Amino acid sequence: MYDMHIHTRHSPDAPADATMEAYAERAVSLGYDGIGFTDHQEFDPADEGFARLDYDGYSREIDDVRKKFKGRLSILKGVEISYQSEFSDEPKKYLRGKDFDFVIGAVHFVNRCPFHHGDRYFRGKTPEEAVRPYFAEVLRAAESGLFDVLGHLDHLKRYSIPIYGSYSAEPYCEDIERILRAVIQTGITLEINTSGFRQQSLLEPYPSSDILKKFVRLGGKATTFASDSHGVPHFHQGMEQSIKIARAAGIQSAVHFTSRLRHDTPIG
Ligand SMILES: [Zn+2]
Ligand SMILES: [Zn+2]
Repeated sequence: MYDMHIHTRHSPDAPADATMEAYAERAVSLGYDGIGFTDHQEFDPADEGFARLDYDGYSREIDDVRKKFKGRLSILKGVEISYQSEFSDEPKKYLRGKDFDFVIGAVHFVNRCPFHHGDRYFRGKTPEEAVRPYFAEVLRAAESGLFDVLGHLDHLKRYSIPIYGSYSAEPYCEDIERILRAVIQTGITLEINTSGFRQQSLLEPYPSSDILKKFVRLGGKATTFASDSHGVPHFHQGMEQSIKIARAAGIQSAVHFTSRLRHDTPIG
């Protein structure tokens, strides 16, 4: 088992005690085969994480922890990039010459507005006016060919529920189907992100079981499994439930990457 989405103190939204070593100790104690660190890299100067990732320092720390856990845990060097269509030329330039094992592309902004900070994004919009442009941006991320993994599809619901009181994916069936087809056609790997289990209003992964079933119906077979931990106590939360949900939906394999090459392991 690999957890393919972990934030350390190199991310602006993770605490100082979220060290690579602390995560690795916890992963070994829980019997994981490997973990992938994926700190944030942003390209919008308006974002708090803009150009913040110290690639050399990050790489050095990964090398140290790899040495320390050699033979016990495989440690992957990943990065989570905010896909913004306004900055779609940046990821390729940034990734050139860097030896990441894998790259997650995820949507955190729509029309340059972050939807995870208060109600600014949602103000004055109907649910459809807020949600549909989000899925359009996710589709562009999936089709971009820039990433190995599409992170936390349907994540916007976490922020829209407190604003509108409820959320249904029903009106966006076709938008979601278009994204899933793009995932399959481009070969980007869909992520199952367990952090929804940390939200009392959700208690399910991103994407939901219904979306995973649709993905399988369309021909999808494999996903990554990802805690999106922002702190060591988050690690492993919701992982077992998410694996059960994936199996029940018909997902056959868990994916990890080394040097941007994909490896599939049957989940039985
Ligand atoms: Zn994210
Ligand atoms: Zn993340």
